[in-house]
Amino acid sequence: MPQNVSEGIILKSVNWKENSRIVTFFLEKCGRLSIVDRGGRSIKSKRGRLQTFCRMEVNYFKSDKTGTGYLTEVDPIESFLLERDGSLGRLTFASAAVEILYDLLPEDEPQKSLYHLTMQFLKLIDLAHKLSLYPLFLAYLMKLLSQLGYRPNFAGCVGCGKDLQIKNKENGNNGLAFSAERGGLVCSTCQIAGEYYIRLQSERQKIVYALQTASLAEAASFSIKYKEAENILELLTNFLRYQTGTKKLKSLIFLEKLKKTKF
Ligand SMILES: [Zn+2]
Repeated sequence: MPQNVSEGIILKSVNWKENSRIVTFFLEKCGRLSIVDRGGRSIKSKRGRLQTFCRMEVNYFKSDKTGTGYLTEVDPIESFLLERDGSLGRLTFASAAVEILYDLLPEDEPQKSLYHLTMQFLKLIDLAHKLSLYPLFLAYLMKLLSQLGYRPNFAGCVGCGKDLQIKNKENGNNGLAFSAERGGLVCSTCQIAGEYYIRLQSERQKIVYALQTASLAEAASFSIKYKEAENILELLTNFLRYQTGTKKLKSLIFLEKLKKTKF
C-alpha cells in the first residue's frame, strides 16, 4: 500500500464508528480528500494532533483494493490563530472559507493554485487590519468561485456584452441590475420582464469589479463601508445559490449568518 505525503488543511472532521473519524482535507497535491483516521479519537492514538486552520504535513496510505485513504501521521507547519485584536471576524471569515471549500471542491482533483490562494488568504485574514477583513474575504470568495468555474460578470452585460463600467446612466438612480440566475449584470435592453434583479449602485459596481481584479494583498488595503460589503456579499450569496443549483450547500446558511454579524 503506497504511502502518500502532502501538505494540507482540515475542512471537516466527523466521528465514525468506534474510535475513528473521517477527516476531509484540502491537500495541495490532490485537492479535497476524505481520509479515515483509525482510532484517532482514542487517547492512545500516537500520531500528531489534528488542528484546524493549520497547514500540516499529512501522511497517509491508500488501500489498493478500496482506494480508501488511512491517516498515519500529521505534522504542523504553520498555524493560523485568528485571534488578533480579539475580533471574532477573523475566525468567522476563515470558517466561511473552509465551509465553502468543503461544499464546492470536487473529490480527489488537484487544485494547486486554489490551495495556495487559500493559504495566502488564511495568512492575511490572520494578520491584516480588521477593517480589511471584509474586502479580503469578498476578493477571496470571488477568486475561489472563479477558479471553480463560477465567475460572476461585473464588467459588462451578460446578455449583449456591452461594457457597463463606463456608462451606466441608462439605469438612472436605480443602479445596475444583477441577475444571480444569469450570472452577472444585465443592461436595460437585455432585461426581461418578471426576471429578478438585485440592484447594484454604480459606485458599488466599481468596488466589486476592483475587488474581483485585485490580488489578495491589494484587497487587504481596500477600505469599504460595511453596507457596501453587505450588499456585495448578498449578490455573491445569491449568485452561488443559483449557480450551484439544487445542491444543498451548508455554506450558504453560513454566509447568511455572516451577513447578520456585526464586526
Ligand atoms: Zn445587454
